[in-house]
Amino acid sequence: MRPVFDEKDLARYPFLQEAQAKIAGSELNRLESFLASDSGRRIINLAADRLEAAITIPQRELEDHFRTSRSQNVNALDLLYAYGMARLIASCINDRTVIERLITYEARRSSFFLMNDESDETAEADADKRDAVATQLGLQLDGDTVLVPLAQYIEMVAGLREPLWRLVNREVSGGLVRVYATEFEVLLRERIRVVIRARGLPKVPAEVCALLAPAIERLTAVHQGQMLRNLGPIDESRYPPCMAALVMALAGGANLTHMGRFALTAFLHTIGLDITQIVEVYQRAPDFDIQKTLYQVEHISGRSGTEYTPPSCATMETNGLCVRRDALCERIGGPLGYYRKKKGSPPSAETLSGSSR
Ligand code: SF4
Repeated sequence: MRPVFDEKDLARYPFLQEAQAKIAGSELNRLESFLASDSGRRIINLAADRLEAAITIPQRELEDHFRTSRSQNVNALDLLYAYGMARLIASCINDRTVIERLITYEARRSSFFLMNDESDETAEADADKRDAVATQLGLQLDGDTVLVPLAQYIEMVAGLREPLWRLVNREVSGGLVRVYATEFEVLLRERIRVVIRARGLPKVPAEVCALLAPAIERLTAVHQGQMLRNLGPIDESRYPPCMAALVMALAGGANLTHMGRFALTAFLHTIGLDITQIVEVYQRAPDFDIQKTLYQVEHISGRSGTEYTPPSCATMETNGLCVRRDALCERIGGPLGYYRKKKGSPPSAETLSGSSR
């Protein structure tokens, strides 16, 4: 018999159909009045805390964080709605790293609860629920092992680096890949990640994002601070040769091509320079026009709703911007990777998950 998921289960596994139906039938659908209500404000705070944890807590410390939060007696339905609200806020922020961090956080959170359930029910009932969740995720259980369709397996393990996940090291039969009980937690986590990412984020009207502005501003500042902490202080001596050449060309009074301006601006923004600092870099260009430069820099830095990242080395090369390559250039895929490697910074959320939105 199919187990019945209670509110606590729905809060723990918010990607389940039952949880989605609960959110769809909730006050979250009458957003404007809900956001102004006391419960709306409470849910926004919970969602903002959740996003802040997703942005700032290193993955290796997430289990401790989930263990601690389990002991804090927060209403299960509030937690479920906070999941929905966090997705709305992330959609308004519209930053790839923030979205990827949230997906990783949710996948780890749900798999933690699935594998470390401390419910009042019997171990058998917990196991039934685990199996029902796995089935909804499209995983086919076969005794102590899981059989995963080949295409689904490849999608799931895309972010896993360990050799044991490579197809050559797996038992494949009839288009199904066998995964053992000891590997179940990792598999579940990756499957949840795939499912959440595939659903995408809701499209949020600008008027609703405006109502969420205080939370968005708070989280944007947290994200900016985290990015700067990851990159460390800005260090021009670590610029990749191509970017150093563009800065020198400007300082020498040369005009840059459109692509050169785009690449340099996106690079400087991503490593943490603010808009004023970037405009100052362009001040020495012979055709410097403050209004035009300000407009372009703001656009590339995300005011248009899209935050651009620097082009890859391949694109830089195609555009004649890859100059004075050095030995480190052979080991990276883009100018940002060069800067991070030279600074010995920790990898980004995207690098850790091995994928992007
Ligand atoms: S290889 Fe990449 S980082 Fe190095 S100079 Fe060329 S574009 Fe820049």
